[in-house]
Amino acid sequence: MNRHILPNAMLGILGGGQLGRMFTLSAKAMGYRVTVLDPDPDSPAGSLADVHLQAAYDDPAALQTLAETCAAVTTEFENVPADSMRFLERHIRVSPSAECVAIAQDRIREKRFVREAGLQTAPFLAVEIESDMDGDLSEFLPGILKISRLGYDGKGQVHVADAQAAKAAFRQMGGKPCVLEKALDLKLELSVVVTRIESGEAVCFPAAENQHESGILDVSIVPARVSADVSERARRKTLALAEKLDYIGVLAVEFFLLKDDDLVVNEIAPRPHNSGHYTLDATLFSQFDQQVRSMCGLPPGGTRLLSPAVMVNLLGDIWREDEPAWDKLLSEPNVHLHLYGKKSARIGRKMGHYNVLASNPDAALAQALALKQELLKP
Ligand code: ADP
Ligand code: MG
Repeated sequence: MNRHILPNAMLGILGGGQLGRMFTLSAKAMGYRVTVLDPDPDSPAGSLADVHLQAAYDDPAALQTLAETCAAVTTEFENVPADSMRFLERHIRVSPSAECVAIAQDRIREKRFVREAGLQTAPFLAVEIESDMDGDLSEFLPGILKISRLGYDGKGQVHVADAQAAKAAFRQMGGKPCVLEKALDLKLELSVVVTRIESGEAVCFPAAENQHESGILDVSIVPARVSADVSERARRKTLALAEKLDYIGVLAVEFFLLKDDDLVVNEIAPRPHNSGHYTLDATLFSQFDQQVRSMCGLPPGGTRLLSPAVMVNLLGDIWREDEPAWDKLLSEPNVHLHLYGKKSARIGRKMGHYNVLASNPDAALAQALALKQELLKP
C-alpha cells in the first residue's frame, strides 16, 4: 500500500460540491484525472471533472465503476453512506477509512470517541429516545439539542432552556437520535486541519480563529489571535485525535476556547474544512493538495504560512437582483476570489469565499470586513 499513485491516474471523489470542486482543481493541476460521484447534474465539481457519475451515493453500478476505474477514492462530506465506502475499501484505496467517516457522521459516536481519546467535549447527553431526558438535566442546560446525524451549518440544532423545551425540540426534529449539549460560554472558536498518511507522518496547518453567523462559518482569521500555548495545545490535540483514529487523509478539528483557556473539542470533519480555505492562497500547499497527496500515498506538503490571511464566506444571502459587485474584490491586489459555480443563490448557501492577505491578521480582518460592506453596495 505504500506505492505512490502518480499523475495521470484517475482519482475518485464522493460528492461534487465546493469541496469536491476545489479537490478536483488541485488534482487536475497536478496532472491527475478525476471522477466525481454526485447525483446533482449541476454539481460544482461535476463540470470540471473528467468523469461525472450522476448517480446516488449507494448506486451499485456507479460504485462498481469507481472501483474499476479509480486508483483511489476520497470523500468531500461525512454523510456518504458508510456502506458505500466499505464496498470501495474491498477493491481500492479509500481515505479516510469508512470507519473514520462512520464516527464523524454520528455526533454520539464522535463525542464518545473524543472522550475516549482523553480530550474534553462539552457536557453532553446521548438522547436516543425521549425518556433519556427524564432524569436531572441541569448539567446540560441551558443547552443545544443537536441531531446526531446529517446536521450541518447549524441545521438540526435547537437552543433549549429547560427539559420541557428539550423534549419538545426532540419531538419536533422527528424523534431521531440527538445529543443534548451544554451551551458553553466561548472566548472564541478555533480549528486545526491535519494531514496524516499511512506511515503516521502528520502535519497541521496553522490554527484558524473562526467567527460564525447564525451557526454558519462567516470569517476565519489566520493565524488565530491566541497565545502560542493555546495554538500549540490545539495542534497537539488534533494530532492526538488523528493518531487515535489511525486517520489517513485530511481531518479538521473544531475547538471551543473557554474563558479559562480550556480547549474543548466541538466536532471533527473527515475532509477539508471551510475554515481551511485560506490555505488555497496563504500556505505552501492547500488542504486540497494535501487531500490529493495523502490519498496518493505521497508525503504531506509543507504547511508554512506565507502570509496572515482572513477568509470570508460568500453566502447566497448577498445575491440580490444582480450578482454582488465582484469588481470591488477583483480590484484589490491582495484579495483572491473563489466562486463555486453554483447556479442558484439561496439564503445560507455557500456560493464562494475570498481570502485577504495582509501583513497581520487585524489588518486583513479590517480590509476583509470593509470589502464585505462594499460588495453589498450597488
Ligand atoms: P455544525 O455541524 O452545523 O457545524 P456545530 O456543532 O459545529 O454544528 O455548531 C455550529 C456552531 O454553533 C458552532 O461553531 C458554535 O458557534 C455554536 N455552538 C455549537 N455548540 C455549542 C455549544 N455547546 N456551546 C456554544 N456554542 C455552540
Ligand atoms: Mg461545526
